[in-house]
Amino acid sequence: MGLFDKKYCDICGAKIGLLGNRKLEDGNLCKDCAAKLSPFFSERRASTVNEIREQLSYREANREEVARFHATRSLGRNTKVLLDEDARRFVVTSARDLVQANPDVLDYSQVTGVELDINENKSEQKVKNAQGQMVSYVPPRYEYSYDFNMVIRVNHPYFDTIRFRLNSSSVKTPRMVSSNVVGMMPQEYREYYDIGKDIEATLTSARQEIRDEVKAAAAPKIAVKCPHCGASTIPDASGCCEYCGGPLA
Ligand SMILES: [Zn+2]
Ligand SMILES: [Zn+2]
Repeated sequence: MGLFDKKYCDICGAKIGLLGNRKLEDGNLCKDCAAKLSPFFSERRASTVNEIREQLSYREANREEVARFHATRSLGRNTKVLLDEDARRFVVTSARDLVQANPDVLDYSQVTGVELDINENKSEQKVKNAQGQMVSYVPPRYEYSYDFNMVIRVNHPYFDTIRFRLNSSSVKTPRMVSSNVVGMMPQEYREYYDIGKDIEATLTSARQEIRDEVKAAAAPKIAVKCPHCGASTIPDASGCCEYCGGPLA
């Protein structure tokens, strides 16, 4: 067992080059096969050859879902959330060619949570003095930089979180920005903030809509007498009379 033993990919059998090995729990994976895994998957080292084989077959099947996917709405700039509102599905990708990139197609119902996570970094600005040394301003000056990270939690067999950054370079400003005061936000900050909040609201309400439908479909259909209009009625999804809209509970 020398250090330089040749390694072969346990999936496709190709010989793996010197820096090309992607280690699995019980084997080796070449970088071509690794590139076909979901971009949101992060458990490779703890995965077995069998688990990787299963995921690659799911990823192949996903190509057909991508082919069926018709984006009706796009949120974001670099990495985007593309929605197929008719099929109630979405993908997250920065690719222009969806078929080639094969992004995982998810149902709205797979979303378990969405949040915009704004990361703040503070650094002191310095100035060169007469002796050529970098010194603090009096009073000290700071620069704040912000990154807008989208976190979408999902119920999926191969990953549970989709993370991506809305901005391509950090938004820098000389003053600290409070996420609670929308009116005081610098313009560029505000733009990313709005995109993030839009994604948050859109996916949250899409998921909620499906939950409400599931709940309404599961509710027993028993007619009751409406105390408001006197009709015999089956409560609607929000528990109201289907004729006069009065609350029945
Ligand atoms: Zn391979
Ligand atoms: Zn009624």
